[in-house]
Order: sequence, then structure tokens, then C-alpha cells
Amino acid sequence: MQRNESNQYHIQGLSPEKLVQEFESPLYVYDAGTIRQKVGELQSAFQAVDLKIKYACKANTNLSILRLMRELGVELDVVSPGEMQMGVLAGYTTSQITFTPSGVPFSEVKQAVDAGAIVNLDSLPLLEWFGQTYGATKPCMIRIKPNVAAGGNEKIMTAHADSKFGISVLLLDSILDIVNRYDIKVIGLHQHTGSDIKDAAPFLKVADILFDAAKHFKDLQIIDLGGGFKVSYKPGDGITDMKLLGSKISERFQKFCQAYGKPLQLWFEPGKFLVSESGYLLTTVTVVKEDPARNFVHIDSGLNHLIRPMMYGSYHHILNTSNPSGPEKHYNVVGYICETDTFASDRVLPEVRQNDILAFMNAGAYGITMSSNYNARFRPAEVLVDHGQASLIKRRETLEDLLRTQMGL
Ligand SMILES: *Cc1c(COP(=O)(O)O)cnc(C)c1O
Repeated sequence: MQRNESNQYHIQGLSPEKLVQEFESPLYVYDAGTIRQKVGELQSAFQAVDLKIKYACKANTNLSILRLMRELGVELDVVSPGEMQMGVLAGYTTSQITFTPSGVPFSEVKQAVDAGAIVNLDSLPLLEWFGQTYGATKPCMIRIKPNVAAGGNEKIMTAHADSKFGISVLLLDSILDIVNRYDIKVIGLHQHTGSDIKDAAPFLKVADILFDAAKHFKDLQIIDLGGGFKVSYKPGDGITDMKLLGSKISERFQKFCQAYGKPLQLWFEPGKFLVSESGYLLTTVTVVKEDPARNFVHIDSGLNHLIRPMMYGSYHHILNTSNPSGPEKHYNVVGYICETDTFASDRVLPEVRQNDILAFMNAGAYGITMSSNYNARFRPAEVLVDHGQASLIKRRETLEDLLRTQMGL
């Protein structure tokens, strides 16, 4: 979101008010320019190595966004057969898709392997099954749990000792035993530390752990360091310094490749980094309640459309785009769902009036993909703005969408 000379907010010249007029409220809007910029930032930070970006598409699976990623040379990391099928619909070949499941039925892994995707195996029983089923005939990767605690908060850490994800690095002997017994072709080692990791230090730490484990595998082509880069949530927020991270990791990676004896590919699987800042949830103020305890601002949305603040305390910056220069006041911004769905407590905003548009920032990742039909509410439409043009990339739901799977109508 930018501001023009008269202080009005706009996305590539389009005002939130105009977008809501055309596509109605609430509305998810994505700026394709921001996605291009983020992809470019990552590519240039790692230009010294053979980098492959695998977009962790659970962040946002809109087909138009997947197609944009494909155009930009970004491949996919999926966590379910459904995501994989969406990738294929967006034009990806299965060989460009990595399946990184977490404790799924082995039949899902079989489906992915047989379709030609590479799978990140995340448990010893799955590794054993893979060996029995495929022996040396199919390549695979292994998801290692490095036992490193890092990330924005405990709910979004995925590599500490207590995390369910991956195979503990402490079990390396058992891993190697199975790999050698079945002659499994392990072409990559993977780890994903968590989300909202700002500093380079945790990335370097897990990289060293993976490099160390990697010495024991003879067929490697890939080291995959996962996603989790921290993005900006409010003006002046500290974010991952991509340039610094790129130079530090690249240097160590090159050293590792030399010691390993051949050049490998370095993979990352960012979700949030690529799409979070591209997205806005535009909502309309339904009522302003001046309560003796608090000023409540109700909007035409709730935890059914954006659950991150309620689920793991995420901060979403909010702009009152209808009254950008109004006098500042304190508000609790809340939803219309019959649960306590507080988006923001004691937030300072320019004076909020009924029918004002409130824009939630960082709504491009884990917004629509985590949404639900709770309270029999419909999901918003989604719009992609590119080259100053807004196109509808998903229509608003209707009652028919909610009833489609019900019997006895
Ligand atoms: C969710 C996920 C990611 C992306 O995490 P971000 O914090 O959005 O970058 C990467 N890899 C795996 C395996 C994931 O499950």
C-alpha cells in the first residue's frame, strides 16, 4: 500500500475504496509487483550458489498466484495431495513439486512418489516403508529435526526437540541403518526451523547441523534449509537481512560442497516471505461502539477470514484508508463472529467511522488458506493487481458453495 501526494492510500494507483466498490467487501487483494520483488530479492541474495526456491504454497494456493510463481521460476513445496493437484493445475510438472508431509498415511506418499514428485520423509517407519516399497528405484529426501528452537513464538517453531516435525538428528545412526539396508537413494536433506526467524544465526546453526549429517550420505544433490524468514509487520519492524543471510549461508555452503566433493543445489521453501506483504484484507466498519471500557470497532469479517491474530497472536497492521489524516484514537478492532475474535486490542487508528474501510496488512500468507465457513459465512473474493489492473482471481462464495456437500436438500 502506497500513499499519494494527497495522503490517500492506493495499491498500484487503485484506492481500497474503489476496489471495494467494484468487488465488494470484505476483499483479499494481492499486489503482484510485491511478489516479483520478493522473489528477486531472494534470487539476488543467493546468486553465488545454485539456488532453487520452492514456494511453500500452504501460505496461499490461489491458482493465479501459483502461476505467477511458475512464471518467475519458483517451484513448489506442498504438504498435501490437494496442494499437489493445485500445483499441477497451475502448470507445474510433478518433478517440480516437493511433498513435505507430516505424519500422513503412507498411501499419500505413494501417490506422490508414483506421480513423480520428490518426498521429504519425516519418520523412521516411513523411511523403512519407503525402503521396502522402492528400494533404490526412487529418489527421496529426509526431513531432519535439528533440535534448534527458533522462530516468532512457540506455536510456530518446528525444529526444537519437542516438535513433531522430522526425524531427530540424534537418530542419525538409525536413519543410516535403514538407508544402507535398502540402498535408499537419498538425494537431499531437509529441515524447516519455524516461522518469523529474523536473525542469520539460527539459519547458520541448522545449516551446520545439516552439513554435518550430510557427510554420511553419498548420493546427495540437495540441501534444503526450509522457510521461515521474518517479514515486516509494522513500519520500522526488524526483518531477516536477506543480503547478509545470503552471503553468510552461501559462503558456508560453498565450503561444504568442496568438502563433500561435488556442487549441490541449495533449496529454500519460503511461504510468508514471498506473499505475506503482497496481500491486504479490505474490510468495512459495520459499527463503532463507544463502550465505557473500550471503543470497539466491528468489521464485516472475523476469525473466519483471518484467524492468525486469534490462533497465534500475530500482529496485523491496520490502516484506516477512508480517514488517513483523522485524529488518532484507541480502539479494539473485533470481528462479527460469535466468538471473541479480536484482531487488535488498544490499537491507535485515525478516527474510525461507520462504513470506513480498514485494510489489514500482511494478509497474503496464511489468510485465505486458513479461512473457514464458521457461522455459515462466505469466504471473500480475491483480487490480483498487476500492472495497475485489478482482476478477480476467486469469486466470493455463495450459499450454494456452503450447501454443495450437504445431503437431503
Ligand atoms: C509452512 C512451511 C514452510 C514455510 O514457512 P514460512 O514461515 O511461511 O516461510 C516451509 N517449509 C515447510 C515444510 C513448511 O511446512
